[in-house]
Amino acid sequence: MYTAHSANDDNHDTPSPARRKSWFRSFRTQVALGFGGLAAVLAVTLSLVLGSMFARKSEADESAVLRTIARNASKALADGLTSRTREIELLADSSTLWKDGLGAERVIQTISRTQALTPYSAWIGVVSPDGVVQASTGKLLLGANVAERPWFQEGLLGTHVGDVHAAKLLAALLPKGSDGGPQRFVDFAAPIRRDGQLIGVLGMHGSWEWTRSVVESLFPDDALARRLEVFVLDAKDHVIYASDAGFDRSADLGVQPSATGSSGVKFARESTGGEFLMATASVGATDGKIDLGWTVVAREPADVARAAARDGVRKALMLGLLCAGLAFVLGWLLAQRLTRPLRQIASVARDIGAGRLDTGIPTNAGSSEVKQLSLALAGMTAKLVSANAELEQRVKERTAALETANAELDRQARFDALTGLLNRHGMEERLQQVLAVSNPDTAPLGIVMIDIDHFKSVNDRFGHATGDLVLKAVAGLMKTRLRKSDIAARLGGEEFVLMLPGANAAEAMQAATELVRLVGDAFIDPVGHITISCGVSQMLRDEESVASALRRADKALYAAKSLGRNRAVAPPLP
Ligand code: GH3
Ligand code: MG
Ligand code: MG
Repeated sequence: MYTAHSANDDNHDTPSPARRKSWFRSFRTQVALGFGGLAAVLAVTLSLVLGSMFARKSEADESAVLRTIARNASKALADGLTSRTREIELLADSSTLWKDGLGAERVIQTISRTQALTPYSAWIGVVSPDGVVQASTGKLLLGANVAERPWFQEGLLGTHVGDVHAAKLLAALLPKGSDGGPQRFVDFAAPIRRDGQLIGVLGMHGSWEWTRSVVESLFPDDALARRLEVFVLDAKDHVIYASDAGFDRSADLGVQPSATGSSGVKFARESTGGEFLMATASVGATDGKIDLGWTVVAREPADVARAAARDGVRKALMLGLLCAGLAFVLGWLLAQRLTRPLRQIASVARDIGAGRLDTGIPTNAGSSEVKQLSLALAGMTAKLVSANAELEQRVKERTAALETANAELDRQARFDALTGLLNRHGMEERLQQVLAVSNPDTAPLGIVMIDIDHFKSVNDRFGHATGDLVLKAVAGLMKTRLRKSDIAARLGGEEFVLMLPGANAAEAMQAATELVRLVGDAFIDPVGHITISCGVSQMLRDEESVASALRRADKALYAAKSLGRNRAVAPPLP
């Protein structure tokens, strides 16, 4: 009466396409995917937002580093240029120094000491107004004419700081530069005056190697790792210094003309294609006297500048995805916990479907909604169970009634309704049973045929109903004589038969005689006395059936009628 559920609903041992589909439809998977997906979206969004924040922050950090390097370098260069200039001016203005003439021993000693005290000063010389070198450190170019050199010409007019240039006259006299080329110099010059009269020019060649030492001292420890570079550009944006000695000086750094001379930080693309974060700072003397129009550029590759941001984004993303994975697992566990009572209910429902009606739906587990479902199902199950029991009871009753009816039909098929004796069919059946268990060779079977005398007249005189009463009375009398194994039957009308297992013809004759007397003696109201006639026989040893024995009894009965009725007759044994 119950519909059987699929027993495999919750079984995932062998995944098939349909099973996979149901896996995706399962509440557990959906909750887990929902949690995980939400966390993943959050993770990606957060990492993108954080990433752009990181990028801005790290760019600002990198910019600050580059700006500081550029500014410090420009300041160090400006300070260096200023203090050199100041030294030259002080020497040139020292009236006592020049009182013995430009080439005096005092002058030679002073410029030698000054060179020794001033690092990277390659040459200091004193030149007469006509351009002839009167005194010089190391006696280099002593007596030579430098009238054509720009620094000399500028020095005649006032204090001068000259741009970087390769050594011309000194090239052959000085060692090579660190890059293997001719040494490069910055020229300083100042007019020598005595009593307001110009008496010569003091000149100094500062080695450009000095710039390298200044810049390198400013490099942070990780300069190599972050591929930091520093350049110095002249007023025409020509590279006059590159921290990387191998740098191709013809390359355009990509410094905007407007940026030259000012300071700022921005991403710029070099003419060779590389992108850099670049800080610029102009080199201006502290006293404002010197402005060569130089610019210091500090830069690092854009990918280095952005590496920290990229790293931050990657880490945030990894962490986010880890959280998403964790959320998936947590979602899975949570959903498993939430669906456990539902699975229990499904399992119990399957049990009920399989006929185990005593299994109860659990009603105290899970959320209130699940409890409601459980209670509803439990109520429904209880109703189904009681309906089933009622139906079974009804079927039992119907079956019993049918059995009773069948038994009645069976009884009616075997018994005579009026007298309660066996009918012919019942008699034959019983006889077969008796014969089956008795041995006809040793156990005889006595037969008595009975017929009521003049019964027709009873009917005629008293009516059919009274006739029936007489039939019942005779049957009742017959029953009083019966032993347990005897068979009494009404063959039809007012004819009866007695089968007496174990009785021979004589004993049957005796029983018949007693019955004749018993009936004859009985008073049957309202008829009074009636009589019967009996024909007796015995089943013979060589007889295969009782039919012939019955026929002989019938003949004997006929004889009894002929002899005047109210008697028993047994024909002589053959
Ligand atoms: P006899 O002494 O020669 O046997 O005469 P009889 O009148 O008994 O014999 P007969 O065979 O002529 O009559 C039998 C009667 O039994 C005829 C019939 O009406 C009556 N009879 C048969 N069956 C029933 C029955 O079930 N009930 C009643 N009341 N009468 C029956
Ligand atoms: Mg008769
Ligand atoms: Mg009769």
